[in-house]
Amino acid sequence: MSDSRALAIEYLKQQRLLGGDSVILSDGLTVGPSDRDNTAPPAPEHTAAVPSDRPTVRASDALPPAGISFDPPSGDLFANDPIQRAASLEGIATLIAACRKCKLCDGRTNTVPGEGPANARLVVIGEGPGRTEDETGRPFVGRAGELLTKILEAIKLPREQVFICNIVKCRPPENRLPQYDEIAACLPFLYRQIELVKPKVILAMGGTAAQSLLSTKQSLGALRNQVHRFRGIPVIITYHPAALLRNPNWKRPTWDDVRIAARLLDS
Ligand code: SF4
Repeated sequence: MSDSRALAIEYLKQQRLLGGDSVILSDGLTVGPSDRDNTAPPAPEHTAAVPSDRPTVRASDALPPAGISFDPPSGDLFANDPIQRAASLEGIATLIAACRKCKLCDGRTNTVPGEGPANARLVVIGEGPGRTEDETGRPFVGRAGELLTKILEAIKLPREQVFICNIVKCRPPENRLPQYDEIAACLPFLYRQIELVKPKVILAMGGTAAQSLLSTKQSLGALRNQVHRFRGIPVIITYHPAALLRNPNWKRPTWDDVRIAARLLDS
């Protein structure tokens, strides 16, 4: 195979990785989904596996186009707002534990403020605590949490090095979606957590996380494959691990999204 042909195939692989359609070359060779099967095989159904033979993430790979840039005003440090005055993640967690700003406080067993180091390079944001999270006070535990841990391991990021949290910090009853007023009441905690951690990249998992963080009504499908910004920090949107457990077909696009986040972390 000539160098130019090899280069063309490599380019088409990258385009396909970012969502382009398959291309059939003159000799019938297809650069598309079947090719991707060789580089990042999908996880078997109903397992939490993430491809272990992933290709090396290269900083030179093309990134998706820019998306939404959302820059909500910061609070005033000198104002009498306890959230804004909280100087640490522990301080935020203490405020959350006492919070009764929305009706989700009525049904909670524990608040789930989030966990991870204050100097994390990646912040992962989900929707809200489920039953196990409510029982333990920890985010992303249970099967969905195990899958998240494997996703992070696949980009060589131990879970312990990532700050993991949710849009709302108390469990919505029967795992329903958080409502607008609940999200609005809880977002200042998340904003302050992001201010304190100052991550290099944010990974928003699921439609509620994406829409709440970027203040948009666009669908998750429309928001994927773009590099959005929250106060200047790159934001990548992907599926929630719980959704992947229900629909294993979404593992491949999730893997693509996570590789983009990894590229941004390495850049
Ligand atoms: S969900 Fe957020 S705003 Fe509502 S009570 Fe819990 S911590 Fe407070």
